[in-house]
Amino acid sequence: MNRANASVRERTAVDPINACILLLNLEGGRFGKHRDLAHNQTEVLTPHGMKLITKAFKDVNPLEFEIYIDPQGDRLSCRVNRIISPNIYTCWFHAVEEEGSLFGDCTCGVPRVDGIPCRHMVAVCKSKKIVGLNENNIMPLTYHTSLWRKQYPTGVSVTCVSNIETLRRASNPSNKFRLCPAISAPRKAGRPKVMKRIKSSQELAMEKHVETKKAAKIGLHDGSKFAEKADGGGKKKVEVMAKEVDAKKTKQVESPRRSRRNKK
Ligand SMILES: [Zn+2]
Repeated sequence: MNRANASVRERTAVDPINACILLLNLEGGRFGKHRDLAHNQTEVLTPHGMKLITKAFKDVNPLEFEIYIDPQGDRLSCRVNRIISPNIYTCWFHAVEEEGSLFGDCTCGVPRVDGIPCRHMVAVCKSKKIVGLNENNIMPLTYHTSLWRKQYPTGVSVTCVSNIETLRRASNPSNKFRLCPAISAPRKAGRPKVMKRIKSSQELAMEKHVETKKAAKIGLHDGSKFAEKADGGGKKKVEVMAKEVDAKKTKQVESPRRSRRNKK
């Protein structure tokens, strides 16, 4: 390591344990921030959920839709079609709230893919044909503040030791379990030899890339001089060699008989 590298390392390098401490501190701070946000949220939906539902409800006019409600057991099935379109969609809602949500599905596929109510479900909600269905319970549980609060419960906080010295003073290491990652193992001085060097993932990927390129090139010229060199030529050689070996064997087998005949 030259002088310039050494000075950069002195200024910027962090040992793995200190790096873990920094990461834990960061995560602890993040957890506390989200916990406070979740418990200070006054709306039923999370801020992101509010944004999504506002966007979904925008530009949907229930008067443009024909809606038929058909209760089926624990589901409320709705046949919805836009007056100007021949397409008919069937969407459904839960008849009873499940943790504050009535969110179901629609045959248009949008709720399954995007996880938010489609325009057909929104039209049903805006038409007020289902009693109790509103902007909050039409959304899936994912966007409910109640679930957000469950993820960040009150009274839970992530604390972390501030530095390695505190950790050393506060705890006794167990000699039973020791981790020795490859990076911490001693290495011989100097640059390792090419054959012994551990190749990086990028180098391996490049080698693979070149191989596949070569293979593709041979495949493209199949039947031409390339293919002959690569495959056909080799086959011909093998065939010629096999014929030669066969010829030798037959000679060996035939030669004693021939010698006897010649004697006769
Ligand atoms: Zn739909």
